[in-house]
Amino acid sequence: MVAEIISIGTEILMGNITNTNAVYFARQCAALGIDCYYQDVVGDNEERMTQMIRTALDRSDLILLSGGLGPTEDDLTKEVVCKVMGEPLVEDPHTRALIQSYMESHLKSNPDSAITANNWKQALVPEHGIVLDNENGTAPGLIIEKDGKTAVLLPGPPIEMKPLFEERVIPYLRSKQEDILYSHMIKICGIGESAVETEILDLIDSQTNPTLATYAKTGEVHLRVTAKAENEEKALALMTPVEEELKKRFGDHIYTTDEEVTLEEAVVHLMKKRNLHLTTAESCTGGAVASRIVNVPGASEILEQGLVTYSNEAKQRYLGVSKETLEQYGAVSAQTAREMAEGGCRNTGTEACIAITGIAGPGGGTPEKPVGLVYMGCSVNGKTTVKEYQFRGNRTKIREQAVVKALTLLRYCILKQ
Ligand code: ATP
Ligand code: MG
Repeated sequence: MVAEIISIGTEILMGNITNTNAVYFARQCAALGIDCYYQDVVGDNEERMTQMIRTALDRSDLILLSGGLGPTEDDLTKEVVCKVMGEPLVEDPHTRALIQSYMESHLKSNPDSAITANNWKQALVPEHGIVLDNENGTAPGLIIEKDGKTAVLLPGPPIEMKPLFEERVIPYLRSKQEDILYSHMIKICGIGESAVETEILDLIDSQTNPTLATYAKTGEVHLRVTAKAENEEKALALMTPVEEELKKRFGDHIYTTDEEVTLEEAVVHLMKKRNLHLTTAESCTGGAVASRIVNVPGASEILEQGLVTYSNEAKQRYLGVSKETLEQYGAVSAQTAREMAEGGCRNTGTEACIAITGIAGPGGGTPEKPVGLVYMGCSVNGKTTVKEYQFRGNRTKIREQAVVKALTLLRYCILKQ
């Protein structure tokens, strides 16, 4: 099955919004084993949309459209697709009732708005189509099948589009495939992409089912293991030996095999398990490490406080870094990082503290201490590890890499205990 992704909206063409829906669909297709040869963007213009959809239905089996399902005049997607596919539009009483109740509850929290006549346009659905109820908005998703071609229409806002895709479209697409693709994501931290790839070249070369693909993220490498089989059990049987081999090769560097789990989640989970509490002592990352930890629901069970100690005075006052250390070695030094981490534990009573101090640039670098130089100290139960890193890139990139490395170092120090 060959798919084509069509993003509808003049806002995308003008660069007003980033086309994240296309990225999302592309990744979903890859995970489902559906080939995707084209991605298109077209504005809210009937003639050009008609042309685009005709072309796409000509060369692809499945078209995935997002946007233009709203109630206003310029929302034309459903009308154009139905016209091109020769599907009449009819009012669906079920969808109308859902729109009514959605609007009524919306009116309660937004008393200034009103249900207007054009809202009912969204109750029109293709006569032979599949209607996907939208719990997060008024436009239902729609699937139209005709002459061996399939069109999937979803609303533009990602918070409406994604649940519809995950709960309804994925099971639909799976039911259409003879062989099913299953995949697991092995997430690795603390090793660079080229080192990971070198380590598994033999596996990549020898595997056809399952296949192995690497994805580099900031400070992380993800490996997708994908198997094609007639059912889940057979797919797992194919995948397990490869996953076991990867575990043997990467050991503790693998922080999860669950697609949904993030590095910060793995860290929080590990700290909960070990009954450890955390203080972050951050300089150049400006609280971003604490912020990543707070991404995780339930972070309050492990995070006691995040200190942003930017100035030398703050490092002395809140972390007890000594004046002599700062004068002799500087704020960006292994010694300061160590004292920040140890002082973070001592002053707060937490068992763990991760400390980061570095030069994010663009100014402030010297030949001895160039931009991108970052020291980290990590104390866990009285034992402190200090690391030096040299990151590349602009200020944002350097800080992003430092955050991931800090989480990686913290995880490493806990596991080493
Ligand atoms: P609405 O009922 O909100 O009008 P719609 O289905 O008509 O929904 P659009 O009007 O095309 O969708 O887009 C509404 C919003 O959805 C956009 O302002 C944008 O925030 C988001 N959106 C639309 N298309 C995309 C896309 N391809 N990628 C990311 N976001 C998008
Ligand atoms: Mg719209």
